[in-house]
Amino acid sequence: MSARIVVSADGRKAFESWRQAFAAVAPDVDVCSWYDPAWQPQPGDYALIWKPRSEHMERLAQMKGIVCTGAGVDHLLAHTDFPRNIPLVRMGGGQTARLMADYVIWAVLGLLRGARTWAASQEQGVWYNNVCSRTSDTTRVGVMGLGHLGAYVAQALSRMGFCVSGWKRSPAELDGVTVWHGMDNLPSFLAEVDILVNLLPSTPATDGLIDYGLLSHLPKGAGFVNVGRGRHVVQDDLLRALDDGTLSGAVLDVVTPEPLPQDSALWHNPRLTITPHVASEASREAQARYAVDVVAMLERGETPALLCDVARGY
Ligand code: NDP
Repeated sequence: MSARIVVSADGRKAFESWRQAFAAVAPDVDVCSWYDPAWQPQPGDYALIWKPRSEHMERLAQMKGIVCTGAGVDHLLAHTDFPRNIPLVRMGGGQTARLMADYVIWAVLGLLRGARTWAASQEQGVWYNNVCSRTSDTTRVGVMGLGHLGAYVAQALSRMGFCVSGWKRSPAELDGVTVWHGMDNLPSFLAEVDILVNLLPSTPATDGLIDYGLLSHLPKGAGFVNVGRGRHVVQDDLLRALDDGTLSGAVLDVVTPEPLPQDSALWHNPRLTITPHVASEASREAQARYAVDVVAMLERGETPALLCDVARGY
């Protein structure tokens, strides 16, 4: 491939690890650092980015295409100067989806069996015998967002025997999953969900969507897993739902802000498990392989599956 990939992801110091990753998976691809003083943008350069600074926007506008190392691009579209007329492709690939499915399976099983209470009892040296007779095949899991990650996660849960439904913007069919779509159907979808998983992208339409009113549509004592974005959830409403039994427990991989401040009430809620935004980040090699494949597709004039629709916001 003759195209050049310019890496700005993870800042100045990380380039060496990216160089090694590209050398391992695509040694013939020309890769250089955004921060190399000798680098000047050339027509046909592609950028690999994560969180570019404002002063990078002018150079980004000279790229032929941009690959983001994250699946969520909300932080990029929030920049008023981010170039919107250049193909922007979100991170994907099999490893990203498998990692997410592994995390969600862990979280859902943890909520099903009340694993949070085991950990707390062990810390206190207490033999707390909370035997659980609920099984996966009678537990209904609902996935909000059935895109690249959500569809994979929903089908992985379905293969494990859970009763799985999903909710998205437009109508669709998905093997093993009952699919609901649109705001009008949201209450009906929620009414039949024992454990709700959020895998929506952050957009003006989805930020703040998960509030007390939404959670109240779930059967009383439902569980909740957030792997989308912290902004989707009204955190005070979540705490209220945990306190009054609307929810029996929740697992949050994403919160607002990140990192979560030490004095946040979320840390101390006994029904919450918090992880530091670690659900799914593919290895450098997998990300490099994906970036090379995307650039090759764009060079051939093809449309990558995860090309961002800037107007839609995902
Ligand atoms: P996609 O863009 O592939 O899928 C988004 C899904 O959400 C689609 O099914 C879409 O519906 C649906 N959707 C979007 N807007 C609405 C709406 N207003 N109402 C109903 N449904 C809506 O995203 P991915 O699956 O790749 O990623 C999802 C999110 O996961 C990312 O944006 C990111 O925030 C988060 N993420 C978190 C990670 C972590 O480590 N915690 C790692 C990676 C991603 P339709 O198909 O009908 O358009």
